[in-house]
Amino acid sequence: MNESYWISSSKHNNFKNLKMNIETNTVVVGGGIVGLTCAYLLAKGGVEVTLVDADKIGHGGSGRNTGKITSQHEIIYSKIDKKYGIENAKLYYEANDKALDLIEEIIINNNINCNFERTSSYIFTENENYLEDLKDEYEVCEKIGIDCDYHENLDLPLDIKGAISFKNQAQFNPKKYLDSLVKICAKSGVKVYENTPIVDFEKGKICKLTTKDNKKIQATNVVIASHVPWYDGLNFYFAKQKSDRSYLLGAVLDKDILPGMFLGVEESGVTFRVHDDEGSKLLIIGGGDHKVGQCKNEGEIYEKLKKYATQKFGVTNFKYQWSAQDYMSFDNVPYIGHINKNIENIYVATGFSKWGMSNGTASAMLISDLLIKNNSKYKELFNPSRKGSYLSGDFIKENINVGINYISGKLKIGSDEFPINKGEGKKVNIEGRRYGAYRHYNDKLYIVDISCTHLGCELNFNSAEKTWDCPCHASRFDYEGNILEGPAIKPLNKYGKEKNHIDIKLV
Ligand SMILES: Cc1cc2nc3c(=O)[nH]c(=O)nc-3n(C[C@H](O)[C@H](O)[C@H](O)COP(=O)(O)OP(=O)(O)OC[C@H]3O[C@@H](n4cnc5c(N)ncnc54)[C@H](O)[C@@H]3O)c2cc1C
Repeated sequence: MNESYWISSSKHNNFKNLKMNIETNTVVVGGGIVGLTCAYLLAKGGVEVTLVDADKIGHGGSGRNTGKITSQHEIIYSKIDKKYGIENAKLYYEANDKALDLIEEIIINNNINCNFERTSSYIFTENENYLEDLKDEYEVCEKIGIDCDYHENLDLPLDIKGAISFKNQAQFNPKKYLDSLVKICAKSGVKVYENTPIVDFEKGKICKLTTKDNKKIQATNVVIASHVPWYDGLNFYFAKQKSDRSYLLGAVLDKDILPGMFLGVEESGVTFRVHDDEGSKLLIIGGGDHKVGQCKNEGEIYEKLKKYATQKFGVTNFKYQWSAQDYMSFDNVPYIGHINKNIENIYVATGFSKWGMSNGTASAMLISDLLIKNNSKYKELFNPSRKGSYLSGDFIKENINVGINYISGKLKIGSDEFPINKGEGKKVNIEGRRYGAYRHYNDKLYIVDISCTHLGCELNFNSAEKTWDCPCHASRFDYEGNILEGPAIKPLNKYGKEKNHIDIKLV
């Protein structure tokens, strides 16, 4: 399996799974940047916190990204200005800038060694058609008062037509940061449990959560920090954001390039930065975005990306390759706050549009303020119940796409033949019912029911990761049916067992 450089190169702390029923003031579900920063801030504010993660700490999106911490989020300020006005664009910048400062403060105060370094961040275009958008963005950034510059060219082996830089941004090793943050949380009294997936939930004044091992957690407050919420609170997160899967490589670089972090603003633009891998330079470069579960040949994307990296930067030694996904709202602003305006004690943070290091830290600041002080100046901008997030053409387009994928999935019956080649997966028809069959490298055949346990879409095989991915709402399962990413919280049933169930009460 492809693994991220950050996870491959970090030492992991092990925390036990939850083995008894517990009562706690606040349960944080998810040990990524949102969950850990939230637990850290809440514990600092005197709140009793328990944090559970389905897997290992930092093994979700937070351990699989590019490690940029910046308030430069592609072209965004001109879009927020257009939709919500300049004051809100300013607030968005301020929240993310403060998040960057908080990360730095935590690192300095706790002496964390995670390769944190301040550097400039750049967005650029190689295509003249994007110049107008770039210039509009620069104008709004200047109006906000961001320390930024416009460049006609950059000293990079690319045909740059225009670029904007933000000064004094940062990059780090996100997994090393989280590994230290969890230790700090545990020291300050947060109870941490790994390998403890939440599989059932009942809301109430006291919420009741059930783990996979059937242990019960009773909590006054619940923070859903699971990247995408598995309980929807009737706020339709699955319909209010779309998913994007992208690919990253870590390649040995034997020359210097312009210091900084770079992102092309074109559709599926390339992202890159250099990381100091114990004295040698590693070029982290990515791209190849597509909707989760809607790619015919994921393996080809890695090959295209490698070819591009070799052509532009002369790299040939690719030591790491991995992929990851994130969720985008339709108004470019994440959903952070009460899961629903009528539910006071359940909080959510999602829809970071691939900027969860700063947006995720800002989420933790906002949620901990709501929970402790009952207010935050950023509450309205990020309000998950705001109407602007779904009153858009993109919302309609996206949900038509979901409908088409739902129906077309049901129309495909599946092959009468099982996969022959090792590593091959395909949909098969067994006695008139559709299953997903995968032939492992050990020649064993794994067969699972591939109707997604979230809302019933038919899953597609991901040939690069050997997983079953949902083309509708982005849940992912391994070939044995175990959950890799939500919103689903029930695994797939194996062939011979009953059909998969959809737990509609969670939606
Ligand atoms: C290719 C790519 C590059 C990116 N690069 C950057 C970047 O350079 N800078 C940046 O700011 N952002 C970047 N991002 C985005 C960023 O990685 C994410 O937005 C961020 O990591 C999300 O953090 P999180 O804490 O919400 O989720 P996660 O880190 O995914 O944490 C969620 C945790 O919840 C757990 N969980 C899920 N369901 C359950 C359950 N039922 N019970 C218990 N636990 C559960 C999971 O196991 C997981 O550990 C990138 C994204 C992609 C796809």
